[in-house]
Amino acid sequence: MGYVAEMFRSVFVEEEGPIMTIDRHLLARNEVVKDRATKCIHPSSICDGCVRKNYFCLIDAPKNLVALPPSKHMIFDTGHYLHKQIQKEYFKKHYGRRCVEEALVVHEGLQIRGHCDLVIDHLWGVEIKSCNAAWFKRIPVIDRSRMRCQPLYKDYFQANIYLKCLDLRHMWVLYYQKNESLRLEGKVTFNKSMWGVVEEKCSYLIKCAENEEIPPFEEQQNHSECEYHDHCFSLRNVE
Ligand code: SF4
Repeated sequence: MGYVAEMFRSVFVEEEGPIMTIDRHLLARNEVVKDRATKCIHPSSICDGCVRKNYFCLIDAPKNLVALPPSKHMIFDTGHYLHKQIQKEYFKKHYGRRCVEEALVVHEGLQIRGHCDLVIDHLWGVEIKSCNAAWFKRIPVIDRSRMRCQPLYKDYFQANIYLKCLDLRHMWVLYYQKNESLRLEGKVTFNKSMWGVVEEKCSYLIKCAENEEIPPFEEQQNHSECEYHDHCFSLRNVE
């Protein structure tokens, strides 16, 4: 018997506990199509996201439902609330109107659209990354006493896009390890060659969209969690 069936069966044999209340709420989300923006390229997925998925997002292809277990929904929720805590409690209260949360990031030519977690004085920004202990260990530490690190390539890449699109002086990637509340911060200054890669990748996607040319299927991706799974696999059958 599957997890969901087992969970609902148990209602009839034992008193309902808090986990069932939570899980019923979280599983209902699996019945709703993700509302992430389309007809654009997201900064967070340019570096190493599935190119075919980025293409489907850009052309606004039909989405399907994605079934995630309750634990995964809770991980996303925890990350979301953590972002809000840092943005509102620590930054907005300190900087007030000098601080913009979820600053809009747009590059019309390259069809990039996203949001930067924090921008202060229109000069510098912060991108928050919450992670578990195993992931945190992979971040190269530069100076442990000052909690300074070298941001991971993917995160540097994303922050570099914000630097260019928002015309900022520098960005910080703030890593927060949820298990023990450990933190690391890494400074990002503009890297021209990395921006060249962004231009190349976005131009390729735009050209594909104009020519209705679908990028190749990517075997190594996590297809079961992709909101374009059904559309992608239906096209695979005729390719
Ligand atoms: S189903 Fe897989 S290959 Fe297809 S768009 Fe989604 S992640 Fe990419």
